[in-house]
Amino acid sequence: MTITESTARTIPPFPFPTAHTPTLSYWQASNRGPSSLWNHGRGDPLPSSADFVIVGAGVAGASLAYFLTREGGAGAGKSVVVLDAADVGSGASGRNGGHVAPYSWRGLDYLTRSFADSGAGLSEADALEVIFSEYDNLQLVKEIVKTEGLDVHLKEVTRVEVVRTEEGAARNKDLKEQFDAAHARSRHAGREVAWDLVDDAEAARKLSRVRDALAANKIPAASNHPHRLTTALLRLALESSHSSAAFFSWTPVLSLSQEAGQWTLDCGARGRISAPNVILCTNGYTRHLFPDDLAQGKGIAKFVTPYRGNAALITPPAAYSGAGALGNTLGLERGAYICPTDSGLVIGAHNSALTWDKPANWADIYGVENDGVVPDKFRAWLANHCRDVFTGWDEGPREGLAQVWTGIMGASADMLPLIGPVPDKPGLWTAVGFHGHGMSRILLCSRALERQLRTGEWDERLPRVFETTAARLEKVRHAADDRPWLG
Ligand SMILES: Cc1cc2nc3c(=O)[nH]c(=O)nc-3n(C[C@H](O)[C@H](O)[C@H](O)COP(=O)(O)OP(=O)(O)OC[C@H]3O[C@@H](n4cnc5c(N)ncnc54)[C@H](O)[C@@H]3O)c2cc1C
Repeated sequence: MTITESTARTIPPFPFPTAHTPTLSYWQASNRGPSSLWNHGRGDPLPSSADFVIVGAGVAGASLAYFLTREGGAGAGKSVVVLDAADVGSGASGRNGGHVAPYSWRGLDYLTRSFADSGAGLSEADALEVIFSEYDNLQLVKEIVKTEGLDVHLKEVTRVEVVRTEEGAARNKDLKEQFDAAHARSRHAGREVAWDLVDDAEAARKLSRVRDALAANKIPAASNHPHRLTTALLRLALESSHSSAAFFSWTPVLSLSQEAGQWTLDCGARGRISAPNVILCTNGYTRHLFPDDLAQGKGIAKFVTPYRGNAALITPPAAYSGAGALGNTLGLERGAYICPTDSGLVIGAHNSALTWDKPANWADIYGVENDGVVPDKFRAWLANHCRDVFTGWDEGPREGLAQVWTGIMGASADMLPLIGPVPDKPGLWTAVGFHGHGMSRILLCSRALERQLRTGEWDERLPRVFETTAARLEKVRHAADDRPWLG
């Protein structure tokens, strides 16, 4: 991977309250009714203590609160407090592409590439555990939405991965063969994966309506309204009769300190709160809670780096509306990911596509914490993309780009999340570093974290390689600086 500019390694100021006005996503703008949790607990006094404090009310914090407060959960009969520096879903969870899209065999590529070669450096067996865990996460999302009766616009869809280059098509086939062989010799052998390769350009074009499609992978996935999902899970926690749960929005945690088995969180003008267990669900902003690590360029602060993602709402032309509307979600090689909603298409720019297409260099993306700006060149890329790739996409007046936004994610040094207790800091836990792929991982991680908080044991249904270990944190200290996402 070539870096055109190196990322800054100076300590930026604490980002909350933001000095800028954040952009507004379609999801945030379309979830404002009485059941949303805007400003929830904003003026309420903070309790001085709780059994569990969760920092961050994105889908990680909200789903962890949900699992903690179920009957028999770790938080049953106890108090659970959720804090967010702004509103629920104000981070990436309220600003994403709406996909719950497990990786197909293509995931093997980055998972098995060596750490030195900017991959996750996993064995084939561990890579398969990750791939199948995403499949399990999809089932878990569907199950919770169904059993809880959540109105979060969940749709079961086929995600069509569109291959557009000869080189990509050859690699796609190789990866499928590699996956099939690895699957057959793994403990998952016999487990059906309903994935399909459409290895014919004309059929791929017909399926995707992408002009230059050469092949396509059909992958079972889901789309949803992520701001509604995050809100609904947090609301279920607040309404639980098994725990006493509370949420305080606009409550930034400025620093953490530990004394006599208690963590104390300094929330500035909002006060202080202590708890024996504090779980950081702060994703892209985590480094600010580890200022010593940040200054020295090591540990969690180096492991999880903020980075920008950009997305837009596109009003489709008549040929792509009504009976002509896209039914599948799409992920385009060197292009966008595309999620149809009733209000239009949510499309997001793969950062690799932006850098390949050259409107961006890595410094435009990594180390960025400001979600108040969409650079003009990204806006233009998003505005033009459907015109550039789809057959028969003829925009009339007031069709096309309707809304555009930025969200900040947490890039992980090895592209895998950090889940579990922080080494040498008893009572401090992390669920961070989802590397732009959290909707396909987080619910499974939160379920496992609840179990570990309750029993002290790792939940073996979650890949062990997600664990926050000293070895992983140490590895990053010596990692070559050619990973543009390293802090
Ligand atoms: C444009 C875009 C498109 C994406 N598309 C997809 C997609 O289609 N599929 C997919 O799987 N993933 C996608 N992602 C990634 C996905 O949104 C994230 O992986 C996921 O939302 C992370 O959830 P989280 O709860 O860990 O973090 P966040 O949602 O970012 O939540 C972290 C929260 O912590 C709070 N916080 C941070 N620090 C503090 C502090 N010190 N004190 C108090 N509060 C604090 C923040 O205010 C924030 O609300 C996309 C992301 C973006 C930006």
